[in-house]
Amino acid sequence: MYAYKVMIHPNNKQFTRIRRTLNKCIECNNIIYDYLDSFIKKNVKIPSCSDVRKWFTIQKQIKDNETLEKRCNMTNKESRYNHLDTLFYDVSNDALKQEIKDTYNSFVRYFKKLSDYPVRKKFNSYKKSFYVDPFKIIFTEKKVKLEKIAVSKKQNRQVLNWINMAEVGRIPVGVTYYNPRVVLEGNERLYIVVGVDDSNSPKHKIATTNNTVGIDLNIKSVVTSDEDYYKSVTKTKSYKKAIKKEKRAQRKLSRRYIKSKELNKSLKESKNYIKERKIKNKYTRRITHLKDNHIDYIIKSIIDKKPKRICIEDLDVNGMKKKKDKKTKQIRKSLQQNPFRKLLTKLTYRCERIGIMVVKADRYYSSSKLCSNCGNKKSDLKLSDRVYICPKCGLKIDRDYNAAINLKKYALAN
Ligand SMILES: [Zn+2]
Repeated sequence: MYAYKVMIHPNNKQFTRIRRTLNKCIECNNIIYDYLDSFIKKNVKIPSCSDVRKWFTIQKQIKDNETLEKRCNMTNKESRYNHLDTLFYDVSNDALKQEIKDTYNSFVRYFKKLSDYPVRKKFNSYKKSFYVDPFKIIFTEKKVKLEKIAVSKKQNRQVLNWINMAEVGRIPVGVTYYNPRVVLEGNERLYIVVGVDDSNSPKHKIATTNNTVGIDLNIKSVVTSDEDYYKSVTKTKSYKKAIKKEKRAQRKLSRRYIKSKELNKSLKESKNYIKERKIKNKYTRRITHLKDNHIDYIIKSIIDKKPKRICIEDLDVNGMKKKKDKKTKQIRKSLQQNPFRKLLTKLTYRCERIGIMVVKADRYYSSSKLCSNCGNKKSDLKLSDRVYICPKCGLKIDRDYNAAINLKKYALAN
């Protein structure tokens, strides 16, 4: 499976239709969330997914009737700021159906203890998305057609039917698509994300050398057993600058928020708040792009050497975050910013795609405590010791480089 993410450029009418669908999906999530939450508060078993869907179809009609009634008593301008210009009837049914399934599954995952208690979706969150039926989506080289966003068959309204894509010929045409979604980031940029199954196609496989590489990950850096040293994103100059600017923008935004509350204005009407939010979103976007770019750079420079296999640690990132201790406060903070999980998953699938073997070391394999020369275990090693000194054979070596060599040995032995 391979996922494509391409930016789309809808015109104004298409954009409003997409925005309406996004808002209605969040409203649907909130209704279902409150319904299921009330069962759990009473300690009663929650109903099945199909029952919830049947209950929602009745609710949908009630809500639509309510909005129609309210709309009669309002002026056009007032209704525009109140989400009342849309009915559930106007929105694609597949998007709503998937929204119910997703919300239901988040509760099921909680019961199976796979995740924490689910969170209610918010209207002003940074990232929103909705689902599109894979059999109703049509791609050409330059354009894409979505259900209920582009419905008009009239000749003079043909503009509405096709949405422009930013990249030409990126998404393959005439194959089966999996889980297509439209994503809105930072209230202005729209993407389409779609999965395509091309794991068996032979063109991606490469000829590898006979080398094995161990990779050690830690908060400050990524070190390989070939003595390559990559700085972590959080230690780079441009990242620190962007974080500083985002903090400043966030502070200004909250000041605007308080001011508009004092004047009894809704957030959609206060222009200074909207202007400031745009600036804040710009920096949030920059930070995610810097992270992604840095990860791609590290992965590319590892893959370009064409090793036969790589060995990585199976990190328990969630377990590390949950440890509550005054000493580890600073470490936990940098863990939250560090994109460990993304790096590991991206490296794994990209290696498997081109034919590099991936070995995952056991979670309790202490790679940093072993000596890479004689195999002696030094159990009193502290986090502050940057240089590893072996008491048995007197080896002096950089701590992370030592761990990387151990991982390489682990891969060769297994
Ligand atoms: Zn030793």
